[in-house]
Amino acid sequence: MRALTKRSASTKAALALCASSLLTACGAASIGGDAQAAVADTTDVAANIPRGEQPAKCPSEGAALQVLGSGGPIAEADRAGTSYLLWIDGEARLLIDAGSGSFLRFAQAGGKMATLDAIFLTHLHADHAGDLVDVLNTGGFEGRMEPLTIVGPNAAPRFPGMASFMQRLIGKADGAFAYNGGYQDGTENKPELIVREVETDEGAGAPVGLDISNDYSVMAHPVHHGPVPALGYVVEVGDANFVITGDQSFLSERFASDLAGSNPTILFAHHVINGQPGQPRGLHRTPEQIGELAGAMKPARVVLTHNMKRSLDDLDNGLAAIAQNYTGPVSVAQDLDCYAL
Ligand SMILES: [Zn+2]
Ligand SMILES: [Zn+2]
Repeated sequence: MRALTKRSASTKAALALCASSLLTACGAASIGGDAQAAVADTTDVAANIPRGEQPAKCPSEGAALQVLGSGGPIAEADRAGTSYLLWIDGEARLLIDAGSGSFLRFAQAGGKMATLDAIFLTHLHADHAGDLVDVLNTGGFEGRMEPLTIVGPNAAPRFPGMASFMQRLIGKADGAFAYNGGYQDGTENKPELIVREVETDEGAGAPVGLDISNDYSVMAHPVHHGPVPALGYVVEVGDANFVITGDQSFLSERFASDLAGSNPTILFAHHVINGQPGQPRGLHRTPEQIGELAGAMKPARVVLTHNMKRSLDDLDNGLAAIAQNYTGPVSVAQDLDCYAL
């Protein structure tokens, strides 16, 4: 395991192997077929929740972002903690966050570590990173040996930086799961992890380009999430681009100003509090503040995810608050929702 600023090798060999001999294991079983058989915008009548247009399956051609986990830190019904998977031409290429429960969703989606270019974490709260070791653990059975990049934030009091987090998690000598320590140096039939930390400067840090693949480009944007070093991500694939806000408060001023007028295809906004009295403050945007962000960025669609009972309980008022500044379509994600780009 080494901290580097640049990806040292491509995954083309692994991808070619995947395409030629492990097609089913690489996700074709769950994402191929009649990808374009989309249904119209629907509403979850039981909960009056607006849902985005959903294909029957994630497309096997082109790019799509799948919401693996649409929930938060409190165990609630059928929502896993936050996680996203970027698909390109039927292969899972980026895992963004691996919150509690997302390990199971990763498997349900047909994800395989063999095809991943990298894993990005927005921050090191358990609802975003709790299942990372499980994803690595299952990946250890795939025989992938191509190095794998992991990106996350720097350290702060009570929050290790990404490199220290990985050391404590799977360090070969004294990690909590030291038996997975082959990831540290690319031995024991496991790929070496190349860990990169992005300096967040309490949300005021400069955005950083991540050189991961020629098929897409990624920028990590520091955001303000109270005392927690945290990142949002912007991914451009062809003519499309999507923004993942991560957990962020309205004090993420640089994020908002840097991305003003960027017209993303989809803004995935973390919908954690409802803005009414009694809700926690300082860590997250209220719906009104999500609307302000969307109004400045002007995305073609907003998808609310990281949904919690407390945010959905007041959804009508939340949607009205967003609409004060953003009048485009807004939908609420469920686990395994897929958004073609
Ligand atoms: Zn969270
Ligand atoms: Zn958080």
